[in-house]
Amino acid sequence: MSAFDGLPPLRDVIATHDLRAKKSLGQNFLLDLNLTAKIARQAGNLTACDVLEIGPGPGGLTRGLLAEGARHVLAVEKDSRAMAALAEIAAHYPGRLDVLNADALEIDPTAHLTPPIRICANLPYNVGTELLTRWLTPPDWPPFWTSLTLMFQREVAQRIVAKPKTKAYGRLAILSQWRTEAKIVMDLPPEAFTPPPKVHSSVIHLTALPEARYPARAETLLRITATAFNQRRKMVRSSMKSLHPEIEDLMGEAGIKPTSRAEELTLEQFCALARTLDAAR
Ligand code: SAM
Repeated sequence: MSAFDGLPPLRDVIATHDLRAKKSLGQNFLLDLNLTAKIARQAGNLTACDVLEIGPGPGGLTRGLLAEGARHVLAVEKDSRAMAALAEIAAHYPGRLDVLNADALEIDPTAHLTPPIRICANLPYNVGTELLTRWLTPPDWPPFWTSLTLMFQREVAQRIVAKPKTKAYGRLAILSQWRTEAKIVMDLPPEAFTPPPKVHSSVIHLTALPEARYPARAETLLRITATAFNQRRKMVRSSMKSLHPEIEDLMGEAGIKPTSRAEELTLEQFCALARTLDAAR
């Protein structure tokens, strides 16, 4: 029996191609095609867009994206065992799916994509935050993509949308909210995946703003947020001492009380400090 898109059900695909999930690759598969189509819909209208998918695995979300009308999908998968299953999907949707057997951290996908580009992925947990950080911090803005629709562990999704003075607030919140509008659009229980992970998951949708909310250099913001949140309980005058010999004066110029703790500083204050530091160099 075939699924609604005319291809075999994902359980059969996994059995046929012996795609037993590997923990080392962060493999927790979505097998319900209604659910993957619903996630694809969270990415917005795909008919006039190219979509970059990282980690298609057996292709559940890939099939959702294609069934929802994506103009073209580029799927980047590290696990060569999945190539035969993905080739069957490509043959079913001629000219609309390209697959790269590569590590997403090692390649530049832009050469294979035509704007407008959306990114949609059930990310491997081990590389998810690294990829997100890279997508959020190119030197120039706007980036090559218009939106990101990403599955994360719920705790990571909460860190992306967190507000100051909360436990979840940190580097990911600053970098995400600086240049995008971010919201959690779906929650999924562990049972939605095979094998089920230990924790709940959430889909987060980030839309690239035309301009950052406050000016700053990405490289500087990366450095100061890493320094500040590395010792989040300390006062910023001590946690950020290594950034500049006159850090307390620079904080004053940026409107920051040196006795504050990192989690009390707003996005606007972090950006002001980044600019003051750059001007002082
Ligand atoms: N998209 C599929 C789904 O929703 O069922 C699979 C999602 S699974 C959570 C993550 C996928 O990312 C796996 O297929 C894994 O092999 C792949 N992966 C892990 N590390 C990767 C990397 N560095 N580059 C590309 N793919 C990777």
